[in-house]
Amino acid sequence: MVLAVVITYARESASLTAPPPITMSHSTENIPLHVPQQLISPDHPMKSIHAVQDGPSPPSASEPETKNNWHEITIKRGDTLSSIFSGLNIYGQLGELMALGKEAQSFRHIQPGQRIRIRIDANTLEELIFEQNKSEQLHVTRQPNGLDIIHVNKPAKSRRTVASGNIKHSLYRAALQSGLSERLIMNLIHIFSWDIDFALDIREGDSFTVLYEEFYIDGEKIKDGEIVAAEFLTRSEPFHAFRYTDAKGVTGYFSADGRRMRKAFLRMPVSFGRISSRFNLRRKHPILNKIRAHKGVDYAAPAGTSVKAAGDGKIVFRGRKGGYGKTIVLNHGGNYSTLYAHLSRYARNAKAGQRVKQGQTIGYIGKSGLATGPHLHYEFRVNGMHRNPLTVKLPSAKPLPKAELINFSSEIQPLMAELKLHRHSSVAIID
Ligand SMILES: [Zn+2]
Repeated sequence: MVLAVVITYARESASLTAPPPITMSHSTENIPLHVPQQLISPDHPMKSIHAVQDGPSPPSASEPETKNNWHEITIKRGDTLSSIFSGLNIYGQLGELMALGKEAQSFRHIQPGQRIRIRIDANTLEELIFEQNKSEQLHVTRQPNGLDIIHVNKPAKSRRTVASGNIKHSLYRAALQSGLSERLIMNLIHIFSWDIDFALDIREGDSFTVLYEEFYIDGEKIKDGEIVAAEFLTRSEPFHAFRYTDAKGVTGYFSADGRRMRKAFLRMPVSFGRISSRFNLRRKHPILNKIRAHKGVDYAAPAGTSVKAAGDGKIVFRGRKGGYGKTIVLNHGGNYSTLYAHLSRYARNAKAGQRVKQGQTIGYIGKSGLATGPHLHYEFRVNGMHRNPLTVKLPSAKPLPKAELINFSSEIQPLMAELKLHRHSSVAIID
């Protein structure tokens, strides 16, 4: 039910966190703290047709092309299995291989870069290993009754990794420099998007630490896994998130006090954007040039940037609304409604009466209506009253039930310690 968390620090990998030479110490952002931590962790077998986990030990790639009757071929453009078999003088046995059924069909689609290893004894094909990709192999062996084929999956091993950094120019830059991939950065922003307004709350000097998984096969990284725990230390307060699977089997991110990070509303209905005008009941309108209440927040972003539904709800209005231009209004139930104005166009499925999910794209930023440039005008209403979207108290998620909270707390304790350890190492570098 719960996320298996096994943390064992190897002393030698901890030394990788040693600060760089002192000459770099005035740089607050360019500190790569990408610290691979080899941790004991369960294997993650990929899907398998036959439930075979570990393949036979083929000759290693560093061996010469032909050794102990093994021939190693890296597919080049134009190669076919028949040209390869001809070259090895076993063309006559190709039919026998192709007769092996569905699995053998993969041999019709060999791609440049894939590898095939073939063991030939006395002009007879004895064994063939076809590496379809990093994790999948077809393994053909000669049995007393003819050739036999199995599909073998190499299990990927997961490894816990830490990235940490201090923000100087932008979170995005600092995160890239810390070793996080774009996908992980987007995930990180998404996890905290209910609590942190990334256009507003993040400043120079703030820092982040992220524990995440990476998957390796034979020592080679094949992909990123999930973020396991993360923290943001902002000037005003620390924010934490922990991946956790609750008693119902639902996996999500929780704050240190056991509340779901995902709330009923997104604080910001665009992924990227700069606040260009705030909620102000006595604002001078930039076009009308007279005092007119600004009952929402404006996010300036390039035209065409997607606008997301702040919460699950129903489209109750879609159309032109005077100076608002192309507008969408969502009703979220519980007396909450949101409004999105100056859109350039609506999303294809965003029609009046349609239900939408939180985060779903409903339209695109534009400057329809009375607008000086492309931006989203966003309003948040509670019981029909306009509230400041940036400060309105959003309904917060219920904490985990008490019985589960105990388990959650003990599970996150080592993660919290790990975050702290790496946070300290980054602070030490700045000092
Ligand atoms: Zn506005």
